[in-house]
Amino acid sequence: MITINEHYLKLQASYLFSDIAKRVATFQEKNPDKEIIRLGIGDVTRALPAACVKALHAAVDELADESSFHGYGPEQGYAFLREAIAANDFQARGADIGADEIFVSDGAKCDTGNIQELFTTEVRVAIPDPVYPVYLDTNVMAGRTGTFSDGRYQGITYLDSVRENNFVPSLPSEPVDLIYLCFPNNPTGSTATREQLQSWVDYAREHKALILFDAAYESFIRDESLPKSIYEMDGAKEVAIEFRSFSKNAGFTGTRCAYTVVPKECTAYDSKGNRQALHPLWNRRHCTKFNGVSYPIQKAAEAVYSPEGKAQVRELTDYYLRNAAHIKAEIGKLGFTSVGGDNSPYIWIDGQGRDSWQFFDLLLDKAGVVCTPGAGFGKCGQGYIRLSAFNSYDNVVSAMQRISAAIS
Ligand SMILES: *Cc1c(COP(=O)(O)O)cnc(C)c1O
Repeated sequence: MITINEHYLKLQASYLFSDIAKRVATFQEKNPDKEIIRLGIGDVTRALPAACVKALHAAVDELADESSFHGYGPEQGYAFLREAIAANDFQARGADIGADEIFVSDGAKCDTGNIQELFTTEVRVAIPDPVYPVYLDTNVMAGRTGTFSDGRYQGITYLDSVRENNFVPSLPSEPVDLIYLCFPNNPTGSTATREQLQSWVDYAREHKALILFDAAYESFIRDESLPKSIYEMDGAKEVAIEFRSFSKNAGFTGTRCAYTVVPKECTAYDSKGNRQALHPLWNRRHCTKFNGVSYPIQKAAEAVYSPEGKAQVRELTDYYLRNAAHIKAEIGKLGFTSVGGDNSPYIWIDGQGRDSWQFFDLLLDKAGVVCTPGAGFGKCGQGYIRLSAFNSYDNVVSAMQRISAAIS
């Protein structure tokens, strides 16, 4: 008899985006002339940088000729891309990461989900609340949680990210083994200081834990005092794996390219308590279950590190940051408190007593603006909404005018 993995049955159906779509459809039916502005989306809107498009075209032409054709590539990624990543994203910032510690992939989503295959079901997992839902759901699928009750899965240590800690969770009071961190955060847009990140690294070293650091939004950091990589912290290489993506910096959400850093020194423990390197395990997993990212896409990603590519990515992220700054300033004028938006494309707004969906309905019904209700990202998100800077500047300006008119 073929039986199923019943842990899947514990998963809570996510109605967040379907509920949003339903409410938007109802509004549109009642107001057929009203143009809706979407500031709810976690997807980029602007075109690929010209340098990437040029590299992509050239790579396709190479495949058209037998003398420059490429078949299966190295699963870990081509050396040209891994070397560019190591030099630009790490060594240039004083983080001693080598090209052979980079694993190129088709997404940080898949990598953050797949990495937990390396650990036993018994490890105690700490996950921020609110956060990107992938970390939690993949651990539910793997059987690391009990059932869902009162808004939370039993067996998970939730790291509350609330006003009182400025949306950067405090160290856990109970012992944990696997810790997810995401800065700049989705959905709150909060960032962690060097001291805060160092305290997590120190915690992991002291408690033989491992940090999974998601830095998908690092390219939005403008404050030079903030760390972009966890490897800028002392001792992080032994206790942290970092996830990066070309999705949000260079608009590769539809193109697909990302990477994971597993330093050679990074270890976890076997059942006898001996340290085991994670690099060979992830290498084995990656080579067995993944075919590598296509050659043209890796060439396009490499172009992100060319002088033109760097300038274009800067321009792209600056554009969204201008949107974010406008949202933040306007929402502040209306008397709302918010976090994020300075070094992040997301602004997390306190509903001042409204629940997330009431706030959502208010913005939709009165202003025709779509946001994301914070409650969809975890229990601590209740009472908040997320506004996203991923839209055109003109749309952002109109959206904020409408919100101002509706609320003031
Ligand atoms: C968008 C996003 C990613 C990127 O995922 P890809 O699979 O590389 O597109 C990763 N983490 C967070 C928190 C995100 O919001």
